[in-house]
Amino acid sequence: MPMVPSHSFDFFLVMDKARENRARRAAERQGFTVRKSRTRDPLAIAYGWHILRGRREVAHLRDIGELERWLADRASRSGGGKITMRYSIHVWCPYGAECPKLHRADKSWNPRHGSAGFACRIPASTGTRALKRFGYKSKSDAEEAAKHVGRLLDLGPDEATRCKIGDLVAAVKRDTPYPPVETVRLRLGLGLDPGSAGITTGEWLVR
Ligand SMILES: [Zn+2]
Repeated sequence: MPMVPSHSFDFFLVMDKARENRARRAAERQGFTVRKSRTRDPLAIAYGWHILRGRREVAHLRDIGELERWLADRASRSGGGKITMRYSIHVWCPYGAECPKLHRADKSWNPRHGSAGFACRIPASTGTRALKRFGYKSKSDAEEAAKHVGRLLDLGPDEATRCKIGDLVAAVKRDTPYPPVETVRLRLGLGLDPGSAGITTGEWLVR
């Protein structure tokens, strides 16, 4: 029996894995973690590499080349720009903002009590509405979440779209992260309702 080169396919898988691990390590050195979506369907909306800082997703990249470019080129990364939405940062516990345990003697927040959050006003199809969200471990986490909402809203090129995004933001349940900017951007680009859950690019393409 002649030898069959049955390892060639495995070889490419190993090469890919090595490339991926190199990107993972580069991300870690920059303070990010990379999580690969388990879906193997390249048309699924979640397909690809998700980059997180702590528990927050900062980017979603569709292929390994895109991931490598993102890691190599800090300057071109989006998401760091100014947002138009105004927000304020607060601390709170079930007894309210006046609870004496919330603050230390020096007036700084005691993060072992209560949680941090943000308050803002967002456009919605029913008119401007107040949005308040608490449950963050630090004021900077709360601020990041507020900025994330602002970045989502800024995806809307017009008021009607901003209202749609506002509806989407308002519908996100407590303790659930806001959808990644890239996901919403992709859905807006495709002309889908940004709030519609679970529609893959594949499904859109066959419509
Ligand atoms: Zn309290």
